[in-house]
Amino acid sequence: MPLLFYWRHDNYVHDLDDGAGYNLNSKYEVLHEVEAGDSVWAFTRVPEGTYVLAAQLVVRARTKNAPGFQYGEYRVWGDLEKSRYFRIEGQENSESLIRRLSPKTKADRLYHSFMGPGSIRRLTEQDHQLLHIASRELLEEPRAQLLPEEELETVLYTGNKKRVKNLVKERSNGLSDTRRRTITREVPGRNRALVERLRTMYDGQCQLCKWNPVNEYGEHLCEGHHIQWLSRGGNDRLDNLMLVCPNHHRAIHRCDAPLDYDDLTLDFGTHHEPVRIDRHLQT
Ligand SMILES: [Zn+2]
Ligand SMILES: [Zn+2]
Repeated sequence: MPLLFYWRHDNYVHDLDDGAGYNLNSKYEVLHEVEAGDSVWAFTRVPEGTYVLAAQLVVRARTKNAPGFQYGEYRVWGDLEKSRYFRIEGQENSESLIRRLSPKTKADRLYHSFMGPGSIRRLTEQDHQLLHIASRELLEEPRAQLLPEEELETVLYTGNKKRVKNLVKERSNGLSDTRRRTITREVPGRNRALVERLRTMYDGQCQLCKWNPVNEYGEHLCEGHHIQWLSRGGNDRLDNLMLVCPNHHRAIHRCDAPLDYDDLTLDFGTHHEPVRIDRHLQT
């Protein structure tokens, strides 16, 4: 079932500033009523008071967040190929469109009916079609383009700030200055130390398949993966990292497999794989 999601403007701005997350969170369970392939239509109210379509996430996975996550327990992830962020500058007011969707909104001020549990609404197929037609002509938001995460993780591990800076500069995607500074100046030094900590903590083993290259080859070959990608707003703390073998790492990125904190599995789309050794994620 498609859904309509009221995205607070400050949260929307924050999302783009940090690297478009392609995911939405809520404390209301209705968010998980959406099925894979369904759309979550997100709209926001700009400070001038008009309403604009912000994104269409075509759902790829549903997960639960780590306990105490500030934006709620439920999360949906958009397919990176099919989902779209719309450019909101210059967009016409969508208030009358939103009022036409079921159930029709009569409140004087539209946002009053989108507070609390009203922030997510179930849509009919007809509503979905209306939104689809209305969004056909919208421009895409260029800032929603992602940095190449695997490349970023690789250069971060070298600890070479210059290489990180070049990568961020070349693939500039409109990250805010603060975020850009964090990724290019602070993360490189910290990241390597964190990956080393994980290697010690897990004796070099992959947390998913327990492969141990240190026993086999005498070398550390497992890599640090950012559970919420750095390029999509994730942080560089230990609890956002896991140690995985290169095969698993490649598969995680290709399949864009998120971690479900409910049962500590990775959702590869085709199947879920459990984290088989955990010494730092669930405390
Ligand atoms: Zn593995
Ligand atoms: Zn990774």
